[in-house]
Parts: sequence; C-alpha cells; structure tokens
Amino acid sequence: MADLWPERIDAVAPDAVEIRWDDGLITRHTWRRLRAECRCAFCRDEMTGQRTLDVDAIPADIRPLEISVVGNYGLRILWSDRHGTGIYHFGLLRELAESTPPVPPDSGNRA
Ligand SMILES: [Zn+2]
Repeated sequence: MADLWPERIDAVAPDAVEIRWDDGLITRHTWRRLRAECRCAFCRDEMTGQRTLDVDAIPADIRPLEISVVGNYGLRILWSDRHGTGIYHFGLLRELAESTPPVPPDSGNRA
C-alpha cells in the first residue's frame, strides 16, 4: 500500500479538523470522535480491542492542545483532558473517514 501523508491539517471548525492527504482526498473528523477512537491501552482493552473509555465522559468541548506527526505513520494528539498517549495511525484516520461521507474537493466548477 502506498504511503499516505497528510499534506495539510486544518482546524476548520471549533469542533472539527480537516486533513488533506497527498492523494488529494480530504477527510474531516470531529475532535470528539477522534478522542473516542483513541487506541491506547488506557482507552482500549489490549486483549479484546474493546473500548474501555467512557465516551459519555468525553467533554463536549474536547480540543487538541498539540498535534504532532510521529515518524511517518501517525499523529500524536495531546487533548485538553490531558490525555496524550494515543497515536492515530494515518490508516486509522482514513478508515474512520470512510464511515462518514468524504468532503468533496474544493467547491466550484470542475470540468
Ligand atoms: Zn487513549
């Protein structure tokens, strides 16, 4: 599989981020959803992969304090609830986007 790379990461709304990938796809993610999808050992059972995080306990106004690229495979997000151990693999971010409609490329006329 070709390596995917986020060319741009933009906070497009107070509660959402848009990622433009190097293959042109744009995916949109709400912060809350991303926080809920954290794959770290605190948020998921390592054996079963089941979510152990209480999603209802995620603050509605959850925000990233810091986003950094890890190696060439993912993003580390430090959240406003001080949780920062999860790494969001690029593959996971793309996968999450597939369960929500993709954002069409730039609005306007296209031949
Ligand atoms: Zn976590």
